[in-house]
Parts: sequence; C-alpha cells; structure tokens
Amino acid sequence: MTAGDSGGPDPAFRAAGAAVASVAAHLAARGWAEASAGNISFSFDRLSDPGPRTEEHALQFPVPDLEGRRVAITASGSRMRQTGQGGGRGLLDAVTGTGGRSLLTLPGVRPTSEASSHMLGHLSAARRGMATSAVVHAHTPALLVLASCRAAPGTIVHDLRKAHPEVDLLLGGAVEWLEPREPGSPALAEATGGAFAGGARCVVWRGHGVLGLGACPDEACDAVEIVETAARLLIERASVFGGHGCCGSPARDRRRT
Ligand SMILES: [Zn+2]
Repeated sequence: MTAGDSGGPDPAFRAAGAAVASVAAHLAARGWAEASAGNISFSFDRLSDPGPRTEEHALQFPVPDLEGRRVAITASGSRMRQTGQGGGRGLLDAVTGTGGRSLLTLPGVRPTSEASSHMLGHLSAARRGMATSAVVHAHTPALLVLASCRAAPGTIVHDLRKAHPEVDLLLGGAVEWLEPREPGSPALAEATGGAFAGGARCVVWRGHGVLGLGACPDEACDAVEIVETAARLLIERASVFGGHGCCGSPARDRRRT
C-alpha cells in the first residue's frame, strides 16, 4: 500500500507527491529510469502528523537530525513512468523514526534500496540549513558512457567543469565522482553520505548512475541534468575533435588525417 491509496486527504503529502511525480515523469520521458531504475525522495515537512506508521525499515546509518521528518520516497521496485502519473503511485509517505535510525511507513511497502544514501543526502542538507531537501537518482547515458574513462576521479570532475560552465555557475563545481560499490550496500551509502557531507550537489556512481541534491525535486533534477549535459558535451567533443574528451588528453586534429 502506498500513500496514494492509504486514504485520507493530506495536503502536505499531496503537494510533495506532485513535485516528485513531475520529476519522475521527466526522468521517464528522458529515458533516464529504465524498468524500475531511479529513485526520488523529498524531505518536505516535520510539522504535520501523517497518522500512525507501523512498519519500520532500518537505515544503514542514523540520521538523528531528521527524526520526525516526513519524507516522500519512491517504493522499492516502483517505475518512474508510473510514479510520474501522480496520485501517489509508487510513492511512500514515510516518517523518520526515533534517533533517525529508520523510516516508518504503512504496512506492506518498502522504500527504495538506496534509501540510506538518500537520507544521508537529506542529513547533509539539514546541516547546511536547508528546510527541505530532495535527492534524485537516475541512470543517465552520457555519464554511464564516461564511466569507461579510466582517468582519476579528480581529472574527470575537472573536465566536466571545463566542458559546461553551468557546473560551476549553478552547482559551484560541487561534483563528486565515486568508484563502483555494490548498489544498496552500506559501503555505497557511506561513500555517498561522505560526498554530500563534503558539500557535493551531485554525486556520480561510476558505471551506475548519478544523484542530485536540491531544496526540491526540480532543483535536485537540475543538478543531474547539468552534470549529464557536461558529460554529453565531453563525449560529443571527442567524436568531433578526437581525443578522449576527458582525461586531459589533447584533441586530435582530424584535418591532418
Ligand atoms: Zn540506480
């Protein structure tokens, strides 16, 4: 059971759910969330009472600052193209439990397996003074292609910033490139939480996907789009001018070939 069929009007959740649904539809339309890939969460409120939540889902790391915070979060196995239709489909109305050690939901549902990475993103946002925060995770193709570049993470981030000025202008260059870890694992959540705690607005999981952090789902999606565009520009530059497009290698002059 998800919030959409839990019964009872809840204006706070309806507004949050609509914001999530809008981004979910966008991700699906862009082809950035195949099958049940991708997940979204929106930490939107801590004042209103959603009613009893009896199912407890332990988090891999506690987020004590978020105790009592309501979180709209996509369900495990949900599809973005369905969540994007609105009405709360595939979306859970969760509350952060005591000590921030769990998410509490209605029975019979489970949040995304990446919930711990999301909640650590929200923790970093709260510690930055943000009243609300959203995390968007998607599988974007240009960043996935760029995963085969074996340059050091710092070099790739440097080249992404050079490729597209918006990375610095709108994200302050706050991009982290993480080496692969098992999806849903504590190791992945810990590394992601560390990146967000260090100020990242966008975290790339090499060979898997990308997460954006913002005050609302649209803003978190902006972070994903900006860095994905930078990756696409790097790749297109390589296809036109040669070279790797990243790795700092010099472009090959095709007029001489
Ligand atoms: Zn994923």
